[in-house]
Amino acid sequence: MPGALDLLIRNARVVDADGDQGVRDVAIREGVIVAVEPEIATRALREIDASGLTLLPGVVDSHVHLTDLAAGDRVTKRSPAHERLARAGVTTAVEFFDFETVLDQWHASSAGLTILGLQGLPAYTDSTPLARITDDVASALREGAIGIKLLGGHFPSSPDASAHAIAEGEQAGCYVAFHAGTTANGSNLDGMREALQLADGKPLHLAHTNAYLRGAVLDLVEENTTALRWLSEHPQVVSEAHLAPLNLCVGAMEGDRFTDHIVVNCLRLGGYPPERRGLLAAFADGFAYCLRQDAVAATPVTGDEGRAVWEADPEHTSLCFPVNRRLSGFMQSSARTAADGTLRYEGAGEFVVDAISSDGGYWRNLILDQGLALVQFGALSLAQLAHKTSRAPAALFGIPGKGSIAPGADADIVGVDRGRREVRFTIAAGAVIFDGERVVGSGGAVLTTEHGGAALRERNIPHRVLDLEASEFLRRGKSGGRLGGA
Ligand SMILES: [Zn+2]
Repeated sequence: MPGALDLLIRNARVVDADGDQGVRDVAIREGVIVAVEPEIATRALREIDASGLTLLPGVVDSHVHLTDLAAGDRVTKRSPAHERLARAGVTTAVEFFDFETVLDQWHASSAGLTILGLQGLPAYTDSTPLARITDDVASALREGAIGIKLLGGHFPSSPDASAHAIAEGEQAGCYVAFHAGTTANGSNLDGMREALQLADGKPLHLAHTNAYLRGAVLDLVEENTTALRWLSEHPQVVSEAHLAPLNLCVGAMEGDRFTDHIVVNCLRLGGYPPERRGLLAAFADGFAYCLRQDAVAATPVTGDEGRAVWEADPEHTSLCFPVNRRLSGFMQSSARTAADGTLRYEGAGEFVVDAISSDGGYWRNLILDQGLALVQFGALSLAQLAHKTSRAPAALFGIPGKGSIAPGADADIVGVDRGRREVRFTIAAGAVIFDGERVVGSGGAVLTTEHGGAALRERNIPHRVLDLEASEFLRRGKSGGRLGGA
């Protein structure tokens, strides 16, 4: 290995989707891993002794929100989400709501991560002219997004208009994600079935499958096995699931009514009247939370503290309720098809849901915390966790160089204390971006399509063009084949 190294990580257990390589030294030069060996003698500008820690490939979070959804039109110039992701071991993240705002915030926010994203479409009706949908898709790509997101559950379009948007995305050759739900069906098992039907054989990314499975339509286990069977029957649809118990909605009120009808549904679900006194009772019982924002984290707080934070500014405060069922997170994250075709929750197999995401970014960056809990529980091996949190999501979007700890791979690595389920350092493009205490990363890069280069040049944002033709999303959409399991 001629020449000095930039970084040498010593004595760490190295695990990626190919398996457990044992205790190794990992050598990094110019942003790339150049050697993974039992002992490396070459000198490096910086060395990290990682004895007792495990190295995993940097997390590729396939569904994040880098902007503060509760901020509304008060969107801030800077987003702390990049730093929060770095603390959670994430080195690549895909925005799933408003990529234009992410780009507006880039220079004040970037922390060394690779970022790509989708642009949410407005709600369409049956009378929306098709040309308008065509224009919105083209504009999303021109502004730098790699595709579009149908916001369904939050801002539903009509079923026909949703199908048109999916077809327009296919025409444009771009990425298309769907938060299930239309004006005809809610964001539940029925909405999920409708989303698969509306895709009609076209490529589609079905967002957070666990979030549709709350036992509202069938028994919870039956809902989960039904959803997993449908996904197996629609191999052109890719998907991800998250492991967070709390959801997120907007705390604004008009008179004694909540403007976000998800708040109303959650209060009803918890047995509370869907009005102010119901929310106060839910805070007192620990059923309602709100997000307390500080520089490092957005922390869910309940009881008197939660009530006080909400009452200080209801309009710009996020409310959360523990409505995401743990069993759905577990089943959707760990279900695999064994060689004999049966559904399993341990052992080898091909995962039904492609990736574990956070649906976080701004908060609840729980991929490794909860993913390592699944490993402790025996539902996933460490190699399978690395597959579902890094290699598989990288493949979904066709991001080259990610998901391996091997010579030639991008030096995107996270060092974890497995027992404590704690991220001890995060390395992106060969540089330490989180040192265990502080986020020290800056810059990074945006991935875009050939249509987005001009806009990113104008914004002076470092970027590379992504070849979506190489993505599992388009490959599966065309051939109906599936990713292998780890
Ligand atoms: Zn989301």
